[in-house]
Amino acid sequence: MFASIVIDVSTSKLERQFDYIVPEDLSLVRGDRVLVPFGNKQVIGFVIEIKETSGYDEGKLKCVIKKLDHALTEDNLGLCFFMQRTFFTRLIDAIKLCLPPIVTSGKVKDSFVDYVLLNTDNLQVKNAKQLEILLYLKEYGKVKKSDLTSKFSESSLKTLIKNGLLKLDRQKVNRAPKNLFTEKKKNIILNEEQQLAVDRILRSKFNVFLLHGVTGSGKTEVYINVIKNVLSQGKTAIMLVPEISLTPQMFARFKNAFGETVAILHSGLTQGERYDEWLRLKRGEAKIALGARSCVFAPVSNVGVIIIDEEHDGSYYSESNPRFHTHEIARYLAYLNSCPLILGSATPSIESFYKVKTGEYSLITLNNRANKKELPNIEIVDMLMEARKGNINMFSYRFLNELEECIKQNSQAMIFINRRGYSSFLMCRECGYVPKCEDCDVSLVYHKEDNMLKCHYCAKRYKVLNKCPKCGSTSIRYGAVGTQRVVEELQKILGNVPIFRLDNDTSTNKQNFVKTLEEFNKTTPAVLVGTQMIAKGHDFNNVTLVGIIDADISLHFSDYRATERTFNLITQVSGRAGRSEKEGKVILQTYYPRHYVYRCASTYDYPAFYKREIAMREVSHFPPFVEMLRVLVVGKLEKKVTEQTESIFFRLKELREQFSSDFVYLQAMKCPKKRLQGNFRYQIMMRIYKKNSGEIIPKIYDICKNITVNNVSVFVELDPQNLS
Ligand code: ADP
Ligand code: ZN
Ligand code: ZN
Repeated sequence: MFASIVIDVSTSKLERQFDYIVPEDLSLVRGDRVLVPFGNKQVIGFVIEIKETSGYDEGKLKCVIKKLDHALTEDNLGLCFFMQRTFFTRLIDAIKLCLPPIVTSGKVKDSFVDYVLLNTDNLQVKNAKQLEILLYLKEYGKVKKSDLTSKFSESSLKTLIKNGLLKLDRQKVNRAPKNLFTEKKKNIILNEEQQLAVDRILRSKFNVFLLHGVTGSGKTEVYINVIKNVLSQGKTAIMLVPEISLTPQMFARFKNAFGETVAILHSGLTQGERYDEWLRLKRGEAKIALGARSCVFAPVSNVGVIIIDEEHDGSYYSESNPRFHTHEIARYLAYLNSCPLILGSATPSIESFYKVKTGEYSLITLNNRANKKELPNIEIVDMLMEARKGNINMFSYRFLNELEECIKQNSQAMIFINRRGYSSFLMCRECGYVPKCEDCDVSLVYHKEDNMLKCHYCAKRYKVLNKCPKCGSTSIRYGAVGTQRVVEELQKILGNVPIFRLDNDTSTNKQNFVKTLEEFNKTTPAVLVGTQMIAKGHDFNNVTLVGIIDADISLHFSDYRATERTFNLITQVSGRAGRSEKEGKVILQTYYPRHYVYRCASTYDYPAFYKREIAMREVSHFPPFVEMLRVLVVGKLEKKVTEQTESIFFRLKELREQFSSDFVYLQAMKCPKKRLQGNFRYQIMMRIYKKNSGEIIPKIYDICKNITVNNVSVFVELDPQNLS
């Protein structure tokens, strides 16, 4: 017998797949992890096929040395081949997504705890210290060794073990991820809308459902009920959420509903925790895999439902190698298992809703909030008018009035600062000079705590300017509003009212993040100031006021999804208000009060927004009507990078001549961030009509694969989410 084996040789850009002989005494199956000879080394490989004959000279083939374990499920393999076909991923890179890092690196270590117990009934020893230990164990039975050594003499313990009076019992421990967020268990009876949704999903085999439910409509309860049902049929479930470390509430709700049956997989875990959770799934001890996008590769078999919550979220696109779109992978996995895929959101992506219109997806709508309350009223405040009234502060009079009222009522307010790709930079008032990072060509961010400028891409630090290096002016403006300045302003206005702050700076670790959320949850009155990260998922009972300070920021972003993202953010943030008994209100501050995104968002009219947006996409030739591709060329030497970009561009132009009516756009240019971490970055942007894209895209990948020069990396991104 022969085995096709993929091996991991990190230096090679090429796919490494070889035939080996399977020795008689070894029984191998697809998905096994094995040790094979390669050159004069032994390396780890993965069996992807077992076959009777090899196409190679059989006399020259080497033997598999040994089997390590059965690492990949059949579904895992199915997904790996799918990624190879669809995203041109190398098999080994796809395989690595399926395994915890310590498995691929071969450094699996289980964690053990030693227990000590009596090995005899005869407790007669002369030594008083030893006797103490024996009597203690007689009373308590089996005790952790570390507990004993903290109470008693360690040398006496050793002697007792050596003399056979005590024995050791070594047990493997599960490194279970700790949840830092606790939540009361609720007993919930589904309302009619929810029940209809659950029934419809459970009746279905392979199908994609877009579950469009307003914020607070109880989508999570729908997921939980579907999963309960799926488990009762002996099947498993996969539940994906955007960066789970940011949604500890979801974690808590699932633990409440399912206990040990749920395993959590995300990058915030320690290596050991991740491995143990993965193992629990693989062994079938846990049946629900809950986690961020790579959880779609969890080692569960017989999947009964796959759920992608907040399906519009950008984190479902993997931007670093291997690049993939989670929706596509989840859909293929659902197809392999003949089970439904649920995409849930209060603000579905334009692409997904378009697929409802074309009949690819089925729509389920939840129109009402589970608490039967109206969605909070969104009031638009025109900041230009405000300035004309003489108010040049960051808060409008309307907002300040509402805030005062909210505090008086002993309620809570959330203030949201839209800061996507946006920061508190310094700017010369005379000439407009903005200091940038020498290595990354992005604006530096001002950090007040240590009075430094920092690059958020490479963490390089710079001194604050007192004088403009370009024109010599000493009039330096401290850029736009950041969370910290908002907090300072608020303190002046609110005096002693507790103010909490959450942004990338304050929540570098998960513990701080969760702690702040919990503290805020317990405090009334209180104000929480934050960025994107307070927008989603949190369910606070006392929030009655939400302020959106500068709604326009993401609108200015040079990205065809800018309007869509603005709509999503407003809807998500507004959804934080009035979730329980008290009614909620939202104040949205903007300089463009008549923009359709604000009109649609403030009336919660997703269909109207979709209609406007899809029409725009069609006339301007953007997705979903075209495929958008970016070829990214990156390297340390600018000359090499430009040469490489030119040679690829040249061949792409030839391709365009061949398919002239299919190309909407083809252009080479510097990236918006021309340098990152010392690397120069150039890009070629393309938009191609969908009709023949299935034929053209593989050719593009081919062109980019065949031109390789040392020290220059080329990436092809299909529908890139972030064009920095
Ligand atoms: P979504 O995920 O759509 O934003 P959630 O599932 O978080 O909504 O539900 C919002 C709130 O309503 C939660 O506090 C939840 O416990 C509650 N809830 C959901 N469904 C029901 C129901 N049928 N009856 C009572 N409360 C419900
Ligand atoms: Zn200047
Ligand atoms: Zn930098």
